Amino acid sequence: MRTEVLGVEFDAVTMAEAVERGMAMLDTASPDYVVTPNPEVVMVCREDPEAARAVANASLVLPDGIGVIYGAKMLGRPLPERVPGADFALHMMERMAASGRSVFLLGAKPGVAELAAEKLSARFPGLRIAGVHDGYFKEDGPVIDAINAAAPDLLLVCLGAPKQEKWMFENRDKLKVRLMAGLGGSLDVYAGVVERAPERWQRMNLEWLYRLKKEPKRLGRMMKLPKFLVCVAGERLSGK
Ligand code: UDP
Repeated sequence: MRTEVLGVEFDAVTMAEAVERGMAMLDTASPDYVVTPNPEVVMVCREDPEAARAVANASLVLPDGIGVIYGAKMLGRPLPERVPGADFALHMMERMAASGRSVFLLGAKPGVAELAAEKLSARFPGLRIAGVHDGYFKEDGPVIDAINAAAPDLLLVCLGAPKQEKWMFENRDKLKVRLMAGLGGSLDVYAGVVERAPERWQRMNLEWLYRLKKEPKRLGRMMKLPKFLVCVAGERLSGK
Protein backbone atom coordinates (compact mmCIF):
# COMPACT_ATOMS: atom_id res chain seq x y z
CA MET A 1 0.00 0.00 0.00
CA ARG A 2 1.28 3.48 -0.82
CA THR A 3 0.52 6.76 0.92
CA GLU A 4 0.78 10.01 -0.99
CA VAL A 5 2.45 13.04 0.61
CA LEU A 6 2.65 16.13 -1.62
CA GLY A 7 2.87 14.07 -4.79
CA VAL A 8 5.34 11.43 -3.55
CA GLU A 9 3.89 7.96 -2.97
CA PHE A 10 5.49 6.36 0.11
CA ASP A 11 5.31 2.68 0.99
CA ALA A 12 3.39 2.37 4.25
CA VAL A 13 5.80 -0.07 5.88
CA THR A 14 7.64 -0.49 9.17
CA MET A 15 11.42 -0.90 9.19
CA ALA A 16 11.00 -4.68 9.65
CA GLU A 17 8.63 -4.89 6.66
CA ALA A 18 10.93 -2.73 4.52
CA VAL A 19 13.87 -5.06 5.25
CA GLU A 20 11.74 -8.13 4.41
CA ARG A 21 10.77 -6.56 1.09
CA GLY A 22 14.37 -5.54 0.41
CA MET A 23 15.64 -9.05 1.14
CA ALA A 24 13.01 -10.55 -1.18
CA MET A 25 14.17 -8.20 -3.96
CA LEU A 26 17.67 -9.70 -3.73
CA ASP A 27 16.20 -12.87 -5.20
CA THR A 28 14.39 -11.34 -8.17
CA ALA A 29 15.91 -10.57 -11.55
CA SER A 30 14.21 -7.16 -11.90
CA PRO A 31 16.41 -4.04 -11.56
CA ASP A 32 14.90 -2.86 -8.27
CA TYR A 33 15.96 0.25 -6.40
CA VAL A 34 15.02 1.81 -3.07
CA VAL A 35 14.69 5.54 -2.41
CA THR A 36 14.39 7.26 0.97
CA PRO A 37 12.97 10.77 0.47
CA ASN A 38 12.92 13.30 3.29
CA PRO A 39 10.79 16.50 3.14
CA GLU A 40 13.59 18.28 1.27
CA VAL A 41 13.50 15.64 -1.48
CA VAL A 42 9.68 15.77 -1.62
CA MET A 43 9.98 19.51 -2.26
CA VAL A 44 12.64 18.93 -4.93
CA CYS A 45 10.30 16.45 -6.68
CA ARG A 46 7.58 19.10 -6.89
CA GLU A 47 9.89 21.28 -8.99
CA ASP A 48 11.97 18.68 -10.83
CA PRO A 49 9.95 16.21 -12.96
CA GLU A 50 13.02 14.02 -13.59
CA ALA A 51 13.56 13.61 -9.85
CA ALA A 52 9.85 12.91 -9.37
CA ARG A 53 9.91 10.21 -12.08
CA ALA A 54 13.03 8.59 -10.60
CA VAL A 55 11.38 8.46 -7.16
CA ALA A 56 8.04 7.21 -8.51
CA ASN A 57 9.73 4.33 -10.34
CA ALA A 58 11.46 2.97 -7.24
CA SER A 59 10.36 -0.45 -5.96
CA LEU A 60 10.40 0.82 -2.40
CA VAL A 61 9.88 4.44 -1.28
CA LEU A 62 10.77 4.79 2.41
CA PRO A 63 9.97 7.82 4.59
CA ASP A 64 13.31 9.14 5.82
CA GLY A 65 12.79 12.09 8.12
CA ILE A 66 10.27 12.84 10.80
CA GLY A 67 8.80 15.64 8.64
CA VAL A 68 7.33 13.08 6.22
CA ILE A 69 5.72 11.21 9.13
CA TYR A 70 4.20 14.47 10.49
CA GLY A 71 3.09 15.46 7.00
CA ALA A 72 1.32 12.14 6.43
CA LYS A 73 -0.36 12.42 9.83
CA MET A 74 -1.53 15.97 9.14
CA LEU A 75 -3.03 14.75 5.88
CA GLY A 76 -4.99 12.11 7.79
CA ARG A 77 -3.17 9.13 6.26
CA PRO A 78 -0.46 8.21 8.77
CA LEU A 79 2.60 6.17 7.88
CA PRO A 80 3.65 3.49 10.40
CA GLU A 81 7.08 4.88 11.28
CA ARG A 82 10.19 6.68 10.09
CA VAL A 83 12.43 4.35 8.07
CA PRO A 84 15.84 6.08 7.78
CA GLY A 85 17.77 4.88 4.75
CA ALA A 86 21.07 4.54 6.63
CA ASP A 87 19.44 2.20 9.19
CA PHE A 88 17.54 0.26 6.51
CA ALA A 89 20.82 -0.56 4.76
CA LEU A 90 22.48 -1.58 8.05
CA HIS A 91 19.65 -4.05 8.74
CA MET A 92 19.94 -5.36 5.18
CA MET A 93 23.71 -5.84 5.49
CA GLU A 94 23.30 -7.61 8.82
CA ARG A 95 20.91 -10.09 7.20
CA MET A 96 23.06 -10.40 4.07
CA ALA A 97 26.17 -11.19 6.12
CA ALA A 98 24.51 -14.37 7.38
CA SER A 99 24.34 -15.74 3.85
CA GLY A 100 27.66 -14.32 2.58
CA ARG A 101 26.04 -11.84 0.21
CA SER A 102 27.92 -8.91 -1.29
CA VAL A 103 27.65 -5.12 -1.33
CA PHE A 104 29.29 -2.42 -3.47
CA LEU A 105 29.72 1.05 -1.97
CA LEU A 106 29.44 3.94 -4.43
CA GLY A 107 29.72 7.57 -3.39
CA ALA A 108 31.22 10.15 -1.05
CA LYS A 109 34.63 11.78 -1.23
CA PRO A 110 37.68 9.70 -2.23
CA GLY A 111 38.77 7.41 0.60
CA VAL A 112 35.46 7.46 2.48
CA ALA A 113 33.94 4.34 0.84
CA GLU A 114 37.14 2.39 1.66
CA LEU A 115 36.88 3.43 5.29
CA ALA A 116 33.17 2.57 5.37
CA ALA A 117 34.01 -0.85 3.86
CA GLU A 118 36.51 -1.56 6.65
CA LYS A 119 34.03 -0.59 9.36
CA LEU A 120 31.16 -2.56 7.79
CA SER A 121 33.31 -5.69 7.34
CA ALA A 122 34.32 -5.54 10.99
CA ARG A 123 30.73 -5.00 12.10
CA PHE A 124 29.16 -7.69 9.90
CA PRO A 125 31.52 -10.65 9.52
CA GLY A 126 30.45 -12.68 6.49
CA LEU A 127 29.38 -9.63 4.48
CA ARG A 128 31.39 -9.47 1.25
CA ILE A 129 32.51 -6.05 0.05
CA ALA A 130 32.42 -6.50 -3.72
CA GLY A 131 34.01 -3.11 -4.41
CA VAL A 132 34.02 0.61 -3.68
CA HIS A 133 34.14 3.80 -5.77
CA ASP A 134 34.00 7.47 -4.79
CA GLY A 135 31.12 9.66 -5.90
CA TYR A 136 33.05 12.30 -7.83
CA PHE A 137 33.36 10.71 -11.27
CA LYS A 138 32.80 12.43 -14.62
CA GLU A 139 31.73 9.48 -16.78
CA ASP A 140 29.30 6.76 -15.81
CA GLY A 141 30.72 4.11 -18.20
CA PRO A 142 33.87 3.06 -16.29
CA VAL A 143 32.01 3.11 -12.98
CA ILE A 144 29.23 0.90 -14.37
CA ASP A 145 31.88 -1.47 -15.79
CA ALA A 146 33.57 -1.72 -12.38
CA ILE A 147 30.25 -2.44 -10.66
CA ASN A 148 29.26 -5.03 -13.27
CA ALA A 149 32.64 -6.78 -12.97
CA ALA A 150 31.99 -7.07 -9.22
CA ALA A 151 28.29 -8.07 -9.75
CA PRO A 152 27.22 -7.28 -6.16
CA ASP A 153 23.90 -8.28 -4.62
CA LEU A 154 23.36 -4.77 -3.24
CA LEU A 155 24.70 -1.45 -4.52
CA LEU A 156 24.61 1.53 -2.16
CA VAL A 157 24.38 4.70 -4.23
CA CYS A 158 25.41 7.65 -2.05
CA LEU A 159 25.66 10.65 -4.38
CA GLY A 160 23.21 12.97 -2.59
CA ALA A 161 19.63 13.67 -3.67
CA PRO A 162 18.27 13.94 -6.31
CA LYS A 163 21.45 12.95 -8.18
CA GLN A 164 21.46 9.40 -6.81
CA GLU A 165 17.76 8.82 -7.61
CA LYS A 166 18.24 10.00 -11.20
CA TRP A 167 21.44 7.92 -11.53
CA MET A 168 19.67 4.74 -10.41
CA PHE A 169 16.68 5.39 -12.67
CA GLU A 170 18.83 6.11 -15.73
CA ASN A 171 21.29 3.25 -15.26
CA ARG A 172 19.08 0.54 -13.78
CA ASP A 173 18.98 -1.56 -16.96
CA LYS A 174 22.75 -1.37 -17.49
CA LEU A 175 23.72 -2.55 -14.02
CA LYS A 176 24.22 -6.18 -13.04
CA VAL A 177 23.11 -5.79 -9.45
CA ARG A 178 20.16 -7.32 -7.64
CA LEU A 179 19.14 -4.23 -5.69
CA MET A 180 20.24 -0.61 -5.30
CA ALA A 181 19.53 1.88 -2.53
CA GLY A 182 20.03 5.67 -2.71
CA LEU A 183 21.32 6.69 0.70
CA GLY A 184 22.68 10.25 0.64
CA GLY A 185 25.42 10.80 3.20
CA SER A 186 25.27 7.27 4.71
CA LEU A 187 28.81 6.29 3.69
CA ASP A 188 30.12 9.29 5.63
CA VAL A 189 28.21 7.98 8.65
CA TYR A 190 29.38 4.36 8.24
CA ALA A 191 32.97 5.58 7.79
CA GLY A 192 32.68 7.70 10.93
CA VAL A 193 33.51 10.88 8.96
CA VAL A 194 30.16 12.38 9.99
CA GLU A 195 28.60 11.32 13.26
CA ARG A 196 25.00 10.36 13.61
CA ALA A 197 22.99 12.21 16.29
CA PRO A 198 23.24 10.62 19.75
CA GLU A 199 20.44 8.15 20.46
CA ARG A 200 18.65 10.54 22.82
CA TRP A 201 18.35 13.15 20.03
CA GLN A 202 17.17 10.43 17.64
CA ARG A 203 14.53 9.22 20.11
CA MET A 204 13.23 12.78 20.45
CA ASN A 205 13.07 12.99 16.64
CA LEU A 206 15.62 15.79 16.70
CA GLU A 207 18.21 14.24 14.42
CA TRP A 208 17.69 17.09 11.93
CA LEU A 209 18.45 19.66 14.67
CA TYR A 210 21.66 17.86 15.61
CA ARG A 211 22.81 17.87 11.98
CA LEU A 212 22.02 21.56 11.73
CA LYS A 213 24.03 22.23 14.90
CA LYS A 214 27.01 20.35 13.43
CA GLU A 215 26.70 21.82 9.93
CA PRO A 216 25.01 25.25 10.13
CA LYS A 217 25.45 25.66 6.37
CA ARG A 218 22.60 23.15 5.97
CA LEU A 219 20.16 25.86 7.11
CA GLY A 220 19.45 26.97 3.53
CA ARG A 221 18.51 23.43 2.52
CA MET A 222 16.52 22.89 5.68
CA MET A 223 14.34 25.91 5.01
CA LYS A 224 12.51 23.54 2.66
CA LEU A 225 11.08 21.84 5.77
CA PRO A 226 8.82 24.72 6.92
CA LYS A 227 7.80 25.17 3.27
CA PHE A 228 6.92 21.48 3.15
CA LEU A 229 4.74 21.79 6.27
CA VAL A 230 3.01 24.89 4.88
CA CYS A 231 2.21 22.96 1.67
CA VAL A 232 0.87 20.01 3.70
CA ALA A 233 -1.32 22.37 5.74
CA GLY A 234 -2.53 23.93 2.47
CA GLU A 235 -3.50 20.54 1.05
CA ARG A 236 -5.24 19.59 4.24
CA LEU A 237 -7.29 22.80 4.26
CA SER A 238 -8.22 22.41 0.63
CA GLY A 239 -9.40 18.89 1.47
CA LYS A 240 -7.13 17.05 -0.99
N1 UDP B 1 28.31 13.23 -3.11
C1 UDP B 1 28.93 12.46 -4.08
N2 UDP B 1 29.01 12.96 -5.34
C2 UDP B 1 28.50 14.16 -5.68
C3 UDP B 1 27.85 14.93 -4.68
C4 UDP B 1 27.78 14.43 -3.40
O1 UDP B 1 29.40 11.36 -3.79
O2 UDP B 1 28.62 14.53 -6.85
C5 UDP B 1 28.22 12.68 -1.74
C6 UDP B 1 28.76 13.57 -0.65
O3 UDP B 1 30.17 13.44 -0.56
C7 UDP B 1 28.03 13.00 0.56
C8 UDP B 1 26.69 12.58 -0.05
O4 UDP B 1 26.88 12.49 -1.44
O5 UDP B 1 28.69 11.86 1.02
C9 UDP B 1 25.55 13.56 0.19
O6 UDP B 1 25.47 13.83 1.50
P1 UDP B 1 24.35 14.77 2.12
O7 UDP B 1 24.60 14.80 3.58
O8 UDP B 1 24.26 16.05 1.37
O9 UDP B 1 23.06 13.93 1.76
P2 UDP B 1 21.75 13.63 2.54
O10 UDP B 1 22.08 12.49 3.45
O11 UDP B 1 21.34 14.89 3.25
O12 UDP B 1 20.85 13.27 1.40
